[in-house]
Amino acid sequence: MAILLEGKTIRDDIRTRLTQESELLLTKKGLVPCLAIIQVGNRIDSTTFIQQKKTFALSIGVKVLHCEFPITATEEEIATKIGALNNDSSVHGIIIQLPLPTHIPKTILNRIDPIKDVDGLTTTMAGLVWQGSTTAFLPATTRGVLTLVDHYKISVDGKKVTVIGKSDLVGKPVALALLNRGATLTICHKKTKDLAAHTKSADIIVSAAGASHLITEAFVSPDQIIIDIGINQNPDNTAHARLVGDVDFKNVYPLVAALTPVPGGIGPLTVASLFENLFDAVKNQTAE
Ligand code: NAD
Repeated sequence: MAILLEGKTIRDDIRTRLTQESELLLTKKGLVPCLAIIQVGNRIDSTTFIQQKKTFALSIGVKVLHCEFPITATEEEIATKIGALNNDSSVHGIIIQLPLPTHIPKTILNRIDPIKDVDGLTTTMAGLVWQGSTTAFLPATTRGVLTLVDHYKISVDGKKVTVIGKSDLVGKPVALALLNRGATLTICHKKTKDLAAHTKSADIIVSAAGASHLITEAFVSPDQIIIDIGINQNPDNTAHARLVGDVDFKNVYPLVAALTPVPGGIGPLTVASLFENLFDAVKNQTAE
């Protein structure tokens, strides 16, 4: 049976630490960390993700400014708001909840001052990670993956790691962060031929495809570690679990060395990692 790589306890430890840091900032500097979240439109999934962030923020003493725009908002209106938040010294981090409506180009992310880019999605931050910076803000899921491997003392140095997914949000930054830690990297995506050959030969598989039951018994080998980032609606409506990962958990779990559950693996760490980035931003902005 595989070791279950659970994220919840690690998330709870991060929450405790950030709460203490928050109390210290208040008593020593009279400062309340503040995250601005820009939402354009009212997609239900986005509203749910924002609510999760608000709940976590509240639990650790962080203020959230939820800046809501109608779906018809123009790029200029959003850019003006970002400019104001950039200039507001009481705001330490700014994120734009993705996806944006199609009429707003993704380049709007670059309006965020990189020192407040706690989602790590500006070209500046992505460039720093590309260059191997260890101080750049990593996108939250990527930071969560590194926190998980550190917690379970999983070394990626010299390991063959296969990442499935090449999105700017998840696949690419996760792959780069692991490459920066010495992994020998393979990045697979929808056009990859013979995906199983790439996954079976890996020491570590990181799946961020968003495809339920993609990784079956035929895709894995003994002694592998699998980090499942995917979050998908369970295709089996009658099942107890509403959400599933990319891995066919029931059949793969008995075969490999270690595996993250979904839910309860990387998911809880993603929100916590965003707030770790925020506290790093506070430190950078208030350093004397
Ligand atoms: P995306 O759709 O932008 O990218 C998916 C990537 O996977 C693409 O590069 C695509 O080519 C590849 N892919 C899809 N199906 C594939 C297949 N059958 N074979 C090989 N490659 C395939 O999605 P995203 O934003 O990168 O998110 C990926 C997954 O991670 C989603 O399930 C999302 O919900 C989840 N996610 C989880 C967290 C978390 O906290 N755990 C955070 C963000 C995203």
